[in-house]
Amino acid sequence: MASRKAIIIGCGIAGPAAAIFLKRAGYEPHIFEAQPDHDDYAGLFLNVARNGMRVLRELGVDGRIRGEGIELRAMTFRSGNGKFLGRIEDPSGEPQGYTVKRGFLHRVLREAAESEGIPVTFGRKLRDLRIDPDRVTAEFEDGSCAEGDLLVGCDGIHSITRRLIAPDAAEPAYTGLISFGGIARGVDLPPEPAQHMVFGKKAFFGYLVKRDGEIYWFGNLDYPGRPTRRELQAVPQAEWRRVIEALYRHDLHPVPEIIRKSESGIGVYPIYDLMSVSRWHKGPVALIGDAIHATSPNAGQGASLALEDALALAKCVRDSATPDQAFRRFEQLRRERVEKVVRYSRSIGRRKHAVNPVQVFFRDLMLPFFLKRAGRDSQAWLYDYRIDWNDGVN
Ligand SMILES: Cc1cc2nc3c(=O)[nH]c(=O)nc-3n(C[C@H](O)[C@H](O)[C@H](O)COP(=O)(O)OP(=O)(O)OC[C@H]3O[C@@H](n4cnc5c(N)ncnc54)[C@H](O)[C@@H]3O)c2cc1C
Repeated sequence: MASRKAIIIGCGIAGPAAAIFLKRAGYEPHIFEAQPDHDDYAGLFLNVARNGMRVLRELGVDGRIRGEGIELRAMTFRSGNGKFLGRIEDPSGEPQGYTVKRGFLHRVLREAAESEGIPVTFGRKLRDLRIDPDRVTAEFEDGSCAEGDLLVGCDGIHSITRRLIAPDAAEPAYTGLISFGGIARGVDLPPEPAQHMVFGKKAFFGYLVKRDGEIYWFGNLDYPGRPTRRELQAVPQAEWRRVIEALYRHDLHPVPEIIRKSESGIGVYPIYDLMSVSRWHKGPVALIGDAIHATSPNAGQGASLALEDALALAKCVRDSATPDQAFRRFEQLRRERVEKVVRYSRSIGRRKHAVNPVQVFFRDLMLPFFLKRAGRDSQAWLYDYRIDWNDGVN
């Protein structure tokens, strides 16, 4: 039988995972990435929740993430003046996930794909698609082309693939918040498998302490307009440092010290999300990951959903007669869950906006009750979702 070719656009998180699973489903994948080279040292860190860790286990790479990441079993909440507001622990006793540098996760996934003989070509930015009923041709900005039996757009929140197959689909929505963060050393804090959240006087702050003393920290700030990542990155580092130090100056230890002792540059990102894309596939072309459902980082689920998608899509391809049938089934299986997670993450983000002193008073009064309830509410729908490669989908 002639080999069936799968074109994968994007080598972030969804791309290499989808390529490996599609290879298992009998395809010959080829990954095309817009960046000129791999970016293993770029970006800050992210949380791979235990639903995403299960997919990494299926790929055989979860051990590397466990070895390198910060295990997460609890979240603690305090106000900026040090008042303890609550602690949520997972009643299952299992880790909620692992926080790991984004570049490390990218490297682990890319190396896993390469070790299976899957080619990754950098410097190929998708520009256009020619779609026939059972064939697709990708055209890249450098003028080159690739032909396949199917194509999976894993090109992230600003996906070109989405614009090409669903030009009328909603664009990502700006949440009104930017996210920033860095990595600090030399602050005397005990390592703990917990994420610490501080509702500071002016802005939200979170941090985690790794076994080797490294501190991963992040914050959120209201920011007007619709900033792009490039615009925020054009602001000099010294200016961001000045603004962020001023923002947390009046919050209690360890927040100001963590910022002062940041050794890395400060990364700054606008937070957009994407709730409901009208069209997920067209003929032999499908979208997965942030390209169809970008969730704000509040729930720590974007990477995990992208991994779940990769596994679910490849199972549908394996068990369906044509890519078109597979992609319809994939949408039936996944749409409700991913939209629910985006909504949930949005609702958490609402509590991170700046507040006036009266709102702070009521927030600090009410949050302990809210956290008690949240601790009792089951998060099983989020974390205990399972997709087994060996089960059929039909
Ligand atoms: C500040 C911030 C913090 C976050 N924190 C978390 C967290 O704690 N936990 C979590 O789970 N998620 C988090 N996320 C979300 C998470 O990063 C995404 O959900 C995840 O990266 C989605 O994976 P993806 O593969 O779909 O897209 P991406 O990881 O964005 O990968 C897309 C890839 O496609 C490439 N590409 C783009 N256009 C083209 C083109 N035209 N041609 C070829 N290639 C192209 C890109 O260069 C990129 O490599 C965070 C996001 C942000 C912004």
